[in-house]
Amino acid sequence: MYRWMLMPLLLLLWLPAVGRGKAAAAADFDALMRKQGLVDVATLDPSITVDLKYSTTDNFVGRDMYGGLKKAYLYKATAQSLLKALKQLQAIDPKWSFIVYDAARPVSVQRIMWNLVKGTDKQKYVASPHCGGPHNYGIAVDIGLTYDGRPVDMGTPFDSFTSDAHITDEPALVRQGRISAEAMKNRRLLRKVLTDNGFFTYSREWWHFTRYNMTYVRKHIGLLDF
Ligand SMILES: [Zn+2]
Repeated sequence: MYRWMLMPLLLLLWLPAVGRGKAAAAADFDALMRKQGLVDVATLDPSITVDLKYSTTDNFVGRDMYGGLKKAYLYKATAQSLLKALKQLQAIDPKWSFIVYDAARPVSVQRIMWNLVKGTDKQKYVASPHCGGPHNYGIAVDIGLTYDGRPVDMGTPFDSFTSDAHITDEPALVRQGRISAEAMKNRRLLRKVLTDNGFFTYSREWWHFTRYNMTYVRKHIGLLDF
């Protein structure tokens, strides 16, 4: 008797809670990012293009892995460094700007990505959610160049996991006809303005830049643990 009465009551209590939880999870990324002091990259300068690849199906997994996260966020001081880099770039020619493919990534999203690639040949491209990488602190950005609003030749697309994306010996890539001389020039320009403003490169990905070293980051900057 009691059980019959209890069941609908439990359902009533449970269902709205699930609904609320889902809606909150979708909407709250923006609030949580702001609360942690992160900045929406699109608000830095109107010339910046944001094409958050993991928030679409146009990525190496072919699935939208970001769900409710639709904007590119960066830790405030990192965003300021990016803006300085943009000013330097536009002092050369005001038609230059950036296209951002990825930025801050909450740990819950890292977990979703990890579960999607775990045990597949793509596992090596995704950091385990246990320790947290630079994107999980909002201090890394995946970025290319645009000219007059259009992405320019960078040699490979974003997330091309071949040695053509490596930055260690680009003259050889040009000599072998694997990337164009133009692409090498564009990569060098991107690296110049970012490294002049405190970013570090990553040898295997022309698009990946990190601000601060991880020892400093783990001590002074909060993990995006939501
Ligand atoms: Zn990256």
